[in-house]
Amino acid sequence: MKIALVYLPFWPTYSPPLGLAYISSVLQRQGHEVKIFDKNIEFSKNIKCENIDPWSDNVLNKNSQRSFFNETTQPLLKKEILSFIKELVSEGYDAVGFSVTELSYYTTQYMSSLIKKLFPSILIMWGGPHVTAKNDLILADSEAGIFDVAFEAEAEETIQEFFNALKENKPYYSILGLICNHPENKKFIKKKRPSINYKELPFPDFRDYPLNLYKVKQLPIMMSRGCVATCSFCTEFLTWKSYRIRTAQDVVEEIKNHIENYQIDNFIFCDSLINGNHEQLEKLADGLENVACTWTAFCRVDERLTKNLLRKMFKAGCTELLIGFESDSQKVLDLMNKGTKIAQNQRVLEDAASIGIKVHGLFLVGFPGEEDHDFNKTLKFIHKNKDKFYVISIGNSLTLPPQSVVGMLPKKFNILIGENGEALLDNEGEWTSVDGSITPLIRKQRLNKLRNYLNSMKLNWVPQQYVERNSLQKLSLSIYHLFLKLFYTIKL
Ligand code: SF4
Repeated sequence: MKIALVYLPFWPTYSPPLGLAYISSVLQRQGHEVKIFDKNIEFSKNIKCENIDPWSDNVLNKNSQRSFFNETTQPLLKKEILSFIKELVSEGYDAVGFSVTELSYYTTQYMSSLIKKLFPSILIMWGGPHVTAKNDLILADSEAGIFDVAFEAEAEETIQEFFNALKENKPYYSILGLICNHPENKKFIKKKRPSINYKELPFPDFRDYPLNLYKVKQLPIMMSRGCVATCSFCTEFLTWKSYRIRTAQDVVEEIKNHIENYQIDNFIFCDSLINGNHEQLEKLADGLENVACTWTAFCRVDERLTKNLLRKMFKAGCTELLIGFESDSQKVLDLMNKGTKIAQNQRVLEDAASIGIKVHGLFLVGFPGEEDHDFNKTLKFIHKNKDKFYVISIGNSLTLPPQSVVGMLPKKFNILIGENGEALLDNEGEWTSVDGSITPLIRKQRLNKLRNYLNSMKLNWVPQQYVERNSLQKLSLSIYHLFLKLFYTIKL
């Protein structure tokens, strides 16, 4: 089959997404003719926006609103999308697969509907984080016939089984991970798939990406999927289900392969954390010691992340670590089920900074149970270590991701709940503690205090662009982490 894999606006344009590169590799291995089209980056360069730039940091997030899409985005993209459809048809593509995120949902829906209307024989496939997270929307789109099949979560195995079934003319609707309407009785079908065998995947293929157009000359890479920790505010370990890791040797080979094929020697590990397995991390550092490359990664504080290991990582090209410190109150860390100690936070920060690794500190303000004196400890910790941080992420007012432990069990976290047992939210989607110790106002005041504090210390902090927004647009710290990671790991 001739298959187009498409990424539509809108998304940041820093570096190429990883998900489609994996999907392309597995489909090529199956014998299909595949091409990736990153229309997000291409349109961002070609479309001249006189009044508003939908890709700019302070506008980007608005693309998740239908009204913004209808009034602003669609008129801008209409001509380009029609001409892209003509290109796909003239080149004889049999199937088009879209990677769908919250910000590209309306554009994807628009283009898919047009294809279905004009060229109904073309197979339309959807995948990506929005497909996995938004059951209700996907059900409606499936019933409306906007797509033919969609793939939930990790799509690499599901999509291969789907094309095998098509080739052998066998029914495909019982494939795990597939979302569709039954071809005969039209019943909506959605079957969850267990974690896939990540180690068996071929290297992701970036050759179709216009690598010179991205803001940063950097490639995403993944050594593992899932997380070994179970922090209650986070969705990573639930999204990826089990923790799986490739061998360090395989990752070193992939890095060498990318350097040779794409002449790019700068990488971002988009794993939930790079140190889920310290033995493999050390082997990775050993394997990269003589490879001329630089890399950045997320990690968690851990006693096994020793100064010696950090030194090896630095020698192996690690320039920056994004470390989830979250708080300097042991009580709050325990409430978060963080599994770390404040003394470890201090030790890892000192060791990493003294070696020369840039520390991007991640903090979470206003967790249920955090009191003023807990928050003040965090302020003191940052102040005491201000010279050791390269930048600080402070997120925004903590929302409750429905798939996180705190979102699923609000009562356990002393959050006011309604009759249905779910968190009682105000008009702005904000929650309050039963005893009033944390309210939306208190969280806002603490965040403002922290921002002012960081400004007074002239310490860089992010995400500045998410600060002055209404409740629908703001991102919690957990979502912000996810945002950073999804940016690199968009799956078909
Ligand atoms: S916050 Fe970090 S360490 Fe904790 S579960 Fe999420 S990814 Fe894992």
